[in-house]
Amino acid sequence: MAIALFTRDLRVHDNPVLHAACHAAREVVPLFVLDKAIVTGSSMSANRAAFLADALADVDSQLRDRNGCLVLRSGSVVNAVERIVADLGVGEVHLAADVSGYSQRREQALRDRLAGHGCKVHVQTNTITVVEPAAITPSGGGTHFAVFTPYYRRWVTVHSRPLLAAPDRITVPSIAAQPLPEPDEICSGQRSPHLPRGGETAGRRILHDWLAEPIHRYEQAHNDLAADGTSRLSPYLHFGCVSPTEAVRATDRSTPGGEAFIRQLAWRDFHHQVLAARPDTATADYRTHHDRWRRDDAAAQAWRDGRTGYPIIDAGMRQLQQEGWMHNRARLITASFLTKTLYLDWRCGARHFFELLVDADVANNQLNWQWVAGTGTDTRPNRILNPLRQAQRYDPSGDYVRRYLPELQDVRGPAVHQPWKIDPSRRAKLDYPDPIIDLRDGADHFRTARDKTGGKQ
Ligand SMILES: Cc1cc2nc3c(=O)[nH]c(=O)nc-3n(C[C@H](O)[C@H](O)[C@H](O)COP(=O)(O)OP(=O)(O)OC[C@H]3O[C@@H](n4cnc5c(N)ncnc54)[C@H](O)[C@@H]3O)c2cc1C
Repeated sequence: MAIALFTRDLRVHDNPVLHAACHAAREVVPLFVLDKAIVTGSSMSANRAAFLADALADVDSQLRDRNGCLVLRSGSVVNAVERIVADLGVGEVHLAADVSGYSQRREQALRDRLAGHGCKVHVQTNTITVVEPAAITPSGGGTHFAVFTPYYRRWVTVHSRPLLAAPDRITVPSIAAQPLPEPDEICSGQRSPHLPRGGETAGRRILHDWLAEPIHRYEQAHNDLAADGTSRLSPYLHFGCVSPTEAVRATDRSTPGGEAFIRQLAWRDFHHQVLAARPDTATADYRTHHDRWRRDDAAAQAWRDGRTGYPIIDAGMRQLQQEGWMHNRARLITASFLTKTLYLDWRCGARHFFELLVDADVANNQLNWQWVAGTGTDTRPNRILNPLRQAQRYDPSGDYVRRYLPELQDVRGPAVHQPWKIDPSRRAKLDYPDPIIDLRDGADHFRTARDKTGGKQ
């Protein structure tokens, strides 16, 4: 008997954990533990709870189609697994290798606890990432790559493992069932009104549709805010509803869109290998410049509320509120505004993103924030994204801004990016705030010790 311990690999197709457990044993317990440490901690949110509840229901339904079911427990993962191991005499537990400090400690705790029961723990690599973090390291030494381009050059040379079929049939031993959770039982609170539906079925459909057509425009469209021309697969990749290996293998790398898309998936692996080697970067600077961040609660709140007076920033922040997701270009611009323009601590921004993003994960969120803040792996840590120039370049018509800011609905064309230029009598009726910081006189941001070489983009 074996346990397939699901964590953030919530799929039956191309799942090395489920595949290995089904090959190792006649009877398999497909187990998910609603981990108390995660559910009650800051890493759970109402948005992600809704997606997770969908994803669990979908795995259960797929397992039922194969004669099985998902066994749910809640509490401590280690206690829950140990209990089943002891009660049923389970011989092995399979779970996915993961990179955060928490998951590394969880894996070790499982090994320690289950050793006393004569139960083996098998950690399946290449489940959460395409290339395992330890599989490629710099030739000059070191635990990980600190720069993306050389990492990518090596990444593309690694042959990804073959795809694994979903099991035809699963025999689950007789075990008490606990009902699957409703979103509010995982985490209550206000959810964004336009969240994507979670689960493998939805994720596979999105991947299929994406590869059939829109990917061909990806290279030109991925930075165009109004075009919304990216895959929106990130939450499905985060929860493992879609296998990153399958996404790469299904993509035609010989096309410009395919190549660009695969490169983004490599960024995901890149951040995972940084976090695996440096789990402390979830909260600590990857490369500190000893910034003494300003404290300005009113500015931080205006940023969170999407009321900074800079429409491109406010549109991004409202998209986040409404959809639990934000376009990558908007993430870059809003994060740069918080850290480089307002000079507020990246952790304050990362916390807010983590609260709302359905795709939030420690590797991609914290390390992208650090990249933008200049404390991470960016080789040009002083670059500043000027919101007006970014707006002109990536939302030239102003359509993205109008989509998310109803109060500016009637301002036509690119003029929507500079509402302070609108005739004062008309402006007074707009219910839109004045800019919280003045960038019109050429000043880009609060001056800091390390911005003397800053490049404006
Ligand atoms: C400040 C900031 C915070 C971010 N936080 C997260 C986060 O919590 N979770 C998250 O998945 N991504 C995060 N990203 C990266 C990126 O913005 C999202 O992955 C992307 O917008 C998701 O949309 P998509 O699926 O349509 O992406 P696509 O453009 O279709 O890309 C395909 C996939 O590649 C991966 N990817 C793309 N860009 C990046 C990147 N820069 N870093 C890592 N992986 C990438 C994602 O898994 C994505 O789904 C963040 C970026 C910034 C600048």
